Amino acid sequence: MIIDLPKTFRFYFSKKGNKKLKGKAEVKNGVLCIYGDVPFRRLMYNVTYCLKGKNKCAYCGKELGRKDVTLDHAYVQDMGGPTIPNNLEPCCSQCNSQKSNFSKEQYARFLLLNKADRKIYRKTVEKEQKLMRRNGMYSFPTEWLTQMDIKKFIVRVDLNKEFKGREYNRIKSIYQEYVILQRPIITDKDGFVLDGFPSLMLAKEEEIKVVPVIVLENVKVKF
Ligand SMILES: [Zn+2]
Repeated sequence: MIIDLPKTFRFYFSKKGNKKLKGKAEVKNGVLCIYGDVPFRRLMYNVTYCLKGKNKCAYCGKELGRKDVTLDHAYVQDMGGPTIPNNLEPCCSQCNSQKSNFSKEQYARFLLLNKADRKIYRKTVEKEQKLMRRNGMYSFPTEWLTQMDIKKFIVRVDLNKEFKGREYNRIKSIYQEYVILQRPIITDKDGFVLDGFPSLMLAKEEEIKVVPVIVLENVKVKF
């Protein structure tokens, strides 16, 4: 898939500490080029702000101060929604928490309902989501998704217990119940893994050979 990118964009990253990190990213001829160490999610947040601004809630339209803005996953993370600009919306914290597990369209419908109906609607959506999971489905557009042989990935980080946190535990429990990898792996155009390391770890442990992937065709990691 192609992610939304601004015409010009530059991002520098450096972090001191026991593991020194340094990198940069820039948009060149419509391609987001990444050099060195750049935390992928943070990069996506910055691209999103550059594209969509920080001063207005995407859902209720409220004006926002610079510090009030939060980023919401329009297709929820719990249903596989990736951290990419196409799926991120700057919004107020009230909308972000109230929207919770709704998609953008579902939340718009929810806002029109009275209190009693809102409760019922939330339950209905929860049921729908469970059913989708049972059928091995994600909530985001199917054309974003491909399948890839796990051997074809380029991985430059150590897959170790650093990734065995809350996200990994959630992915594992969903896998045990529904036999679906809750979060697809995200790669650049050549299969370089950018996000989804806990999913990749679990896939290796469970010996899953072909996994769900979102390939970002206009992102390139340069060595
Ligand atoms: Zn709002």
